Amino acid sequence: MILDGVIMRGLLESVIENNMPYTKDGKVASYIPLLSSANPDHLGICVTTLEGKEYSAGDCEVKFTMQSISKVISLMVAMLDKGTKNVFSRVGMEPTGDGFNSIVNLEVRNYNKPFNPMINAGAIVTCSLIEGENVEEKFQKVLSFTRKITGNDSIDINQGVYLSEKNTGDRNRALAYFMKGNGILQGNVDDVLEVYFKQCSMEVCCRDISRIAAMLANDGVLPWSGERVISREVSRIVKTIMVTCGMYDESGEFAVHIGIPAKSGVGGGIMASVPKRMGIGVFGPSLDEKGNSIAGIKMLQELSKELDLSIF
Ligand code: GLN
Repeated sequence: MILDGVIMRGLLESVIENNMPYTKDGKVASYIPLLSSANPDHLGICVTTLEGKEYSAGDCEVKFTMQSISKVISLMVAMLDKGTKNVFSRVGMEPTGDGFNSIVNLEVRNYNKPFNPMINAGAIVTCSLIEGENVEEKFQKVLSFTRKITGNDSIDINQGVYLSEKNTGDRNRALAYFMKGNGILQGNVDDVLEVYFKQCSMEVCCRDISRIAAMLANDGVLPWSGERVISREVSRIVKTIMVTCGMYDESGEFAVHIGIPAKSGVGGGIMASVPKRMGIGVFGPSLDEKGNSIAGIKMLQELSKELDLSIF
């Protein structure tokens, strides 16, 4: 589908304007102290088409940390390193219906692996599967893959957010030590968490995540260069897991109302990939009680309706 540039820009402007009031209904994340300094009024959107065209509106240049959106990246890197079968022998493919940092299933359900790679426990396991001599080499692999799939070599970590999460990330430490104690997680816990905290604090803007989503929409090929970065199969698996688990315990409602594979992060970003059509990146740090961008979801809902984007 060829999108008319003028119409698209107009549509995105009105999507921002119409949904701005919802920013007042949420709150910025504060459990990672530095995230609480985000401006709750920020709202941005960017669309990248499979022809490599980009349209944006609002605060699309404002940087934010990827947080849980990075779980999609470590999943892809782990699959490239270890193979799909191997990765999913260590982490499941099922949604949980619980919060992203929940620990309950690890103990009470008779399950020898975390439910899926989009919750914290699962992402910590996928980080442990990335190959490399040491922490720095493993994280550099995640960072350079991120730079490649965004076409943005300047992406780096936000040092303040990284240290803020590292200093307060005891719940993630609890998850990791629990999994280590049960033989689910292998390797040095501090090293694994170092990769996890660093990937969560990679700083991006709406355009960067819309480009990653466009690559996934394009079955693993970068729209702007034609280069294949992941197989069609890996791209299919990632999008499927985004549909079932990407919005945590809001994934079902999101599938009904929006119907696009998506992944959110508590930094306020949502990366949405419309198969065969486009990538969308939205940003609004005011979050709902599940930890998803409150106005971001509303913007995606309006865009999905206007452009008939639901895959269902
Ligand atoms: N870094 C965050 C954490 O581990 C990511 C969570 C999120 O974005 N939902 O708690």
